[in-house]
Parts: sequence; structure tokens; C-alpha cells
Amino acid sequence: MGLYAAAAAVLAGAEGRQGSLKGLVYSSSFQNVKQLYALVCETQRYSAVLDAVIANAGLLRAEKKLRPHLAKVLVYELLLGKGFRGGGGRWKALLGRHQARLKAELARLKVHRGVSRNEDLLEERSRPGQAYQVPRFVRVNTLKTCPEDAIDYFKRQGFSYQGRASSLEDLRTLKGQHFLLDPLLSELLVFPAQTDLHDHPLYRAGHLILQDKASCLPAMLLSPPPGSHVIDACAAPGNKTSYIAALLKNQGKIFAFDQDAKRLAAMATLLARAGVSCCELAEKDFLTVSPSDQRYSQVQYILLDPSCSGSGMLSRQLEEHGGGTPSKERLQALAGFQQRALCHALTFPSLQRLVYSTCSLCQEENEDVVQVALQQNSGVFRLAPVLPTWPHRGLSTFPGSEHCLRASPETTLTGGFFIAVFERAEVVPGPAPQDKAVAPEPLSKAPKRKRRRKAAAGASVEPST
Ligand code: SAM
Repeated sequence: MGLYAAAAAVLAGAEGRQGSLKGLVYSSSFQNVKQLYALVCETQRYSAVLDAVIANAGLLRAEKKLRPHLAKVLVYELLLGKGFRGGGGRWKALLGRHQARLKAELARLKVHRGVSRNEDLLEERSRPGQAYQVPRFVRVNTLKTCPEDAIDYFKRQGFSYQGRASSLEDLRTLKGQHFLLDPLLSELLVFPAQTDLHDHPLYRAGHLILQDKASCLPAMLLSPPPGSHVIDACAAPGNKTSYIAALLKNQGKIFAFDQDAKRLAAMATLLARAGVSCCELAEKDFLTVSPSDQRYSQVQYILLDPSCSGSGMLSRQLEEHGGGTPSKERLQALAGFQQRALCHALTFPSLQRLVYSTCSLCQEENEDVVQVALQQNSGVFRLAPVLPTWPHRGLSTFPGSEHCLRASPETTLTGGFFIAVFERAEVVPGPAPQDKAVAPEPLSKAPKRKRRRKAAAGASVEPST
């Protein structure tokens, strides 16, 4: 095995918690241990920078066979290291095609952070409040107002509207009293990170919801038309539920479950303030909700946003040592519940589309859960190829994982997030309101088919977010 492949294997092993970098280097069959160790340490040190550059340059989308860890090592060598060793062989030729774009993305990152040396990109991470600053996203609650009226209100207050952003770059450079409309979501306003709207009259009146863009995507991608029946399986405190209600225009029904009474009480207040009238709240363990109950016979859409480690949450990354990395035992327990909940949700007889989301960055809670669910429902459900231009995709752990979406401050200017959209295999995808490649068909006419019912018993885990 060559140096770069060995380094990629060590990085993948470390991410999969198979051991420490040092342990994995020593157990590797690569002979020059010192050289290998230096390369993986340096690549790891620049990991966030490399992730951002690779995602923004669209490298993995263009080179579908290139695995993410190998890409990271190679891009490190190309941009930050001493250049390809031993001539670089085929890797030099492969990366050569993307060299200009990768260099431009690195330069852009430095300009954005106001630094001139590669080293200075690293220091940002340890400055709380600096590295993870993302814009303040504000969703206009269309049950109560419309984006045009909200924009006018802000303009009257002295804010300066800059129109609809055309790229993430526009969001990155927002300053002062300027604000924009998000390039992807037409009801999402974007303000500079420091903007505090918690006391804003429109927020207090439920016209605005302070919701990160990544957290808006699950409802947007579920995209239920008015009149639909929807289950929100783990719903409290209800920000996504309220967005679903807005998409439904309060027409249809949302069955919202949560097993935490306190969070449900907060949710009831939030929904009332947001003017949601199409939602039935129930204090219930979703795993005990029967798919054969007649009440759910018309449910074609399910949102499953289960308890997770929250390792992608900005506040946690800042507060917790080690970037909020959860213990192996906690991850196992969470992933067990997520797996059971997802497989249970996929047994609802009329289900056509399901969005699975977490605010975790851990593969165990994301790609691994999705992969098992796909294997257990092979031929019945598949991943929908959503948002093809979204820059940050699922880790390449199984064929098709590129249909999953990831989000992070570095790559998408949002909190850390993961989303997978399941659709029944018989449904032919058509244009969606927000993104032509994602759209669900009119689902009511889709044929039903027998499907396997999977055991879904077992204890759930306390809510974490
Ligand atoms: N979707 C919510 C939102 O956008 O506001 C956030 C959901 S939070 C990540 C996960 C929720 O799942 C918690 O409120 C937790 O109480 C709930 N939960 C955990 N286990 C559950 C179960 N077995 N059945 C129903 N809800 C559960």
C-alpha cells in the first residue's frame, strides 16, 4: 500500500473510532512509520480547512471514485504539504485537473478569514465565537405574514435589504445592518451573525422563527402539499413542525409525537404563537405508535428527527472539549434507537416520502443508520437524489450515500447537520418547488405495495437537543 492510501486508511480508522492515530499508524503495514505519522497528523490538523476547500471546489462530486479520506490527504499534499512525493503518479494527474479550483478555494478562505498564511487558518478554530460564526437565519412564518412584508418592516427599521443572495459567498460577507434573502429557501432571511432578534416584535408575535438554515431543510425536502397527512415522529420543541404546517398552509393534518412532556408543553406554546392549527400533539413513544391504526392510514409523509448526540450543534462544539465528541457507548445507544425508529417509520402503509435528520456529525448516527434501513427495505425504499448542487454530501460509506446531505459552518455556513430523504421506489421523482431534482410526485395516486414489517421494540434514549 502506498503512503497516501495508508494515510487515508488511518484517517478513516480514526474517524470510525477503531483506534488512535498513533495506534493505527503502528498497526498499518506501511513501512516508514515516521513519514506516515507526520502526514496523518498534519492532514488531521488541517481537517476542517481541507473539508471546506474540497466541498467548495466540488472535488468529490466531480471525482466520484475518489474516497473522502484519500481526497483529504491528497489535497493536503497539493496545497499545504511539500508537494507530491515520488512524483505523485496518477494522483498528481487526477488532482491536477482540479488544482486551479482548489487553490482558488483556499485563497478565498484566507481572504474571508482575513489571514495570509495557511497556519493562521488553524488558529481560528481555537478562538471561541470566531471560527463557528454563521449568519443569523430567520424564517418568515407564512402562516402569519409573507417575506415581502417582513422585508418592508426591517427596511423601515433601518436595515438595508440586499436582494436575494446568489451564492454562499454573499452570505459570508454580510455585515452591519445588511440582510438578504437566502439563495435556496425563499422564506428565509439572512442577517449578520451578531444580529439579535430575540426581542424583535415580529419574533414575539410569531411572524418570524429564529431557525438555522440546516434545520429548515428537513421540512423543505419533505415538501408535503396542502391537505397531506404527515407524522412528525420526534417533534418537540416543534420548529420543524411549524415549518411543515406553513408548507401545508394549515390544511391537512400533522400527527406530532414526543415522549417528553415538558418539551411538548413548550411545543404547544410555540405552535400556538406560530398560528399552527393543523397539528395534533401526543405524548407518546413513537415506537409504540401502530402503523396499522386507521388514524394514520393516509400518512404519506414522515419526518424523523430523533434524539442524537448533537455533535454538530454550534453551542456544543464551543462548549465541549474535543468538539463535542460523544462516547462510544452513548453513540451505540443513540444509533440503536435511531435505527429502530427509522425502520418503524418505514412500515407505515401509505408512506411515500420520509426525511431522516440529525444535528450530529457522527457516521454511526447518520450514514450507518441510513445504510441499514436501505438494506432492510431494499427495492421498497430508496434515497431521493436531493439538492444536487448542495456542496457537502454524505460520507462515501455505501453506494448512493452521496444522495445524503451534510452541513457544517465551514462548508454551508450553518450548524452541523445530516439529512437523508427516503422515497418509495415506485414513485417517479419530478420537479420540486425549491429544487428541480428533488421533487416528490403527486403522491396520492402512487400504488401501494406490500412491505416487510420490522421489529421496532426497545428503549429510547433521552432527548439531547
Ligand atoms: N424535531 C424537533 C424540532 O425541530 O424542534 C427536534 C427534535 S429533538 C432532536 C428529538 C426529540 O425526540 C426530543 O424532543 C425527544 O424528547 C424526542 N424523543 C426521543 N425519543 C423518543 C421516542 N421514542 N418517541 C418520541 N419522541 C422521542
